[in-house]
Amino acid sequence: MTIYLVDIEHVTHTCPAQPEPHPFDIRRTVIDVIPAGPCRAPVTIRCGNTTATIACHRHEPAKRQCGACRIIVTERTITTRPHTLGDAA
Ligand SMILES: [Zn+2]
Ligand SMILES: [Zn+2]
Repeated sequence: MTIYLVDIEHVTHTCPAQPEPHPFDIRRTVIDVIPAGPCRAPVTIRCGNTTATIACHRHEPAKRQCGACRIIVTERTITTRPHTLGDAA
């Protein structure tokens, strides 16, 4: 399966409704992707006179995807920081 290694950053702020700092944004940065290789159960679809073979993850729901297409997200670090003026929104 394909593994996504991500860093998570919780951005906190205060606002009139909740003067205690609280998380209001979560940012994820993909640090690394470890690909599992090509699809092991490609699906052939027919469209008019043509057929095409596509990786199963483009056709099947996550539960029915092959081992290579499934995605695992691993959270490497989780940090918390206050919102600053330089941030968008
Ligand atoms: Zn708030
Ligand atoms: Zn697949």
